[in-house]
Amino acid sequence: MPDDAGLQALREAARLSPDNLPLRQHLAGQLLARGYLADAEAEFRAALVLSPKNPEIITGLAEAFVRQSAYGSALAALEPLLAEPGYPPRAGVLAARALAGEGDLGRAAYRYFEAISRDPALADPEFAARLNPPPAPPPVPQPPVPHGPALVTPQPGSPLAPQSNAEVQSSGLTFADVAGMEAVKEALRVKLLLPIQQPDLFAAFGKRAGGGVLLYGPPGAGKTHLARAAAGELGAAFVNVGLADILDMYIGSSERNLHATFDLARRNRPCVLFFDEVDALAARRSDMRQAHTRQLVNQFLAELDGVDQNANEGVLVLAATNAPWYVDAAFRRPGRLDQPVFVPPPDAAARAAILRILCRDKPLAEMDFDAVAKVTEHFVGADLKGVVDRAVEAKLQQSISAGRPIPLSTPDLLAAAQSVRPTAVREWMATARNYVMHANDSGAWDELMPWVKGKW
Ligand code: ADP
Repeated sequence: MPDDAGLQALREAARLSPDNLPLRQHLAGQLLARGYLADAEAEFRAALVLSPKNPEIITGLAEAFVRQSAYGSALAALEPLLAEPGYPPRAGVLAARALAGEGDLGRAAYRYFEAISRDPALADPEFAARLNPPPAPPPVPQPPVPHGPALVTPQPGSPLAPQSNAEVQSSGLTFADVAGMEAVKEALRVKLLLPIQQPDLFAAFGKRAGGGVLLYGPPGAGKTHLARAAAGELGAAFVNVGLADILDMYIGSSERNLHATFDLARRNRPCVLFFDEVDALAARRSDMRQAHTRQLVNQFLAELDGVDQNANEGVLVLAATNAPWYVDAAFRRPGRLDQPVFVPPPDAAARAAILRILCRDKPLAEMDFDAVAKVTEHFVGADLKGVVDRAVEAKLQQSISAGRPIPLSTPDLLAAAQSVRPTAVREWMATARNYVMHANDSGAWDELMPWVKGKW
């Protein structure tokens, strides 16, 4: 690093040849390294005029901004760079710092872990610890949405009318329809089903039924399928709530819709109330800039807690997420979604079992599902369903041409497996590994440890 005199000489040289890009860039870098942040910023800006899309200059400028706590400017500078796939990992780390500076820890964590998964040398455990969700403060007491007549008398069909777009379904599936996952099924049986099936036993130990379970794991691994089967296993109604059912554009009416959905479940006890993609609803509240979103989360917590001891008796809340690290710690308090259950990607035996279930009502030749399981490493249930659907389609075409049904065979599945790419399990495991390794102080992700250590 040049001393002050050397730096002065560099400045002088740059003044004399203002269009010399490498020189200006070098000067800017040196100023940054020496901590002359405002000067570095000016130099990077000048360099950027000469080479507007230069990633090194953009990241240099962003660093100058971040170190001056000008987080918004840093994010604005980085934005075009981050829009490109494969952007420099250093840009991702700077974006993470800027987002964290703005209090947006959820998105900061996403950027940070994505970046260091590509360049581990950039890891900064101290910064990572800040991203680890701290225990959230207790929810601000929120006046519950009135159970009696609503404050504003809504016109039926008006956007303010509390309504649940969710439907009550009877599940039709049981655990017999869920292949593999023996440990997960057992965990659900104990946590959800036994208290209802054997209430006396539970009461004897001073336990109450109710509360919820957070199912988490890679997309397509079967969380929804499992929730539906849990309802069937219990002989309970099934209410499946997508976020679209709840988050609507009318501020204030989302809370009412949410309340109406819980009430729908309460009127249909025993009922499994299933929330998919709960991370979007339950994203850490610090991430939520808009007061009404925060209010919706508080309403959700209030509904989970229930107005009294018996409010949610016989209502089992299952929530699913692919991104458990974004779920507010307040959701995991006792009596809420306090029991995280990992829904893993299937191993070979489970893949064979899933294929067997998916094919069971089709005309079949003699099948070797183990052979198909062998060539579908990293496939989850949804991918396997894709394989079977594709093979069936091809067979249907052949049957139409032949004028008679031709049964599905092992080579059909093997051929279909060649043309289906497994979805995001690898990426999911990479992200999970980052959380387990770098943000697991509270031990929240211990269950994932053996999984992320495997080969993916
Ligand atoms: P997720 O909710 O985790 O994204 P889904 O439950 O929607 O995944 O799974 C997609 C499909 O894959 C299901 O509809 C089901 O047909 C199939 N599937 C997934 N896991 C299993 C399993 N263990 N046994 C049988 N079918 C499964």
